[in-house]
Amino acid sequence: MKNIDTKAKCVALIAHDNRKDVLVAWTIRHVDKLKKYSLVATGTTGKRVEEASTLKVKKYKSGPLGGDQQIGALIAEQKLDALFFFWDPLEPMPHDPDVKALLRLCNVYNVPVACNEATAEMVIKCF
Ligand code: PGA
Repeated sequence: MKNIDTKAKCVALIAHDNRKDVLVAWTIRHVDKLKKYSLVATGTTGKRVEEASTLKVKKYKSGPLGGDQQIGALIAEQKLDALFFFWDPLEPMPHDPDVKALLRLCNVYNVPVACNEATAEMVIKCF
């Protein structure tokens, strides 16, 4: 009997406000690929992606209200296969510690994380 893994990969999308347009445009370009995955996102990012595309996204809380930590919990439970996290390098965030914790957990659990469009293009090709 063939061993077929039918479980869709889980991919998280997060973008800070100044990077949301770039992430949304990226998701539209890759909609055919992304629609095969189980998508999760922080609240506002998920809403923006759903409004701009046909993608369905499980939306957690907004990042500053704990959404980053909820996605971090998925990583700790080894339920996340990749993170696309377009963080803003030019603005300090009130939830900077959560951002750092999320990036740290990706390294703890060896989860691929793309923080800009160029890296995202490379990572999505491997999926
Ligand atoms: P948001 O959160 O998608 O709810 O804006 C992103 C973040 O700031 O971490």
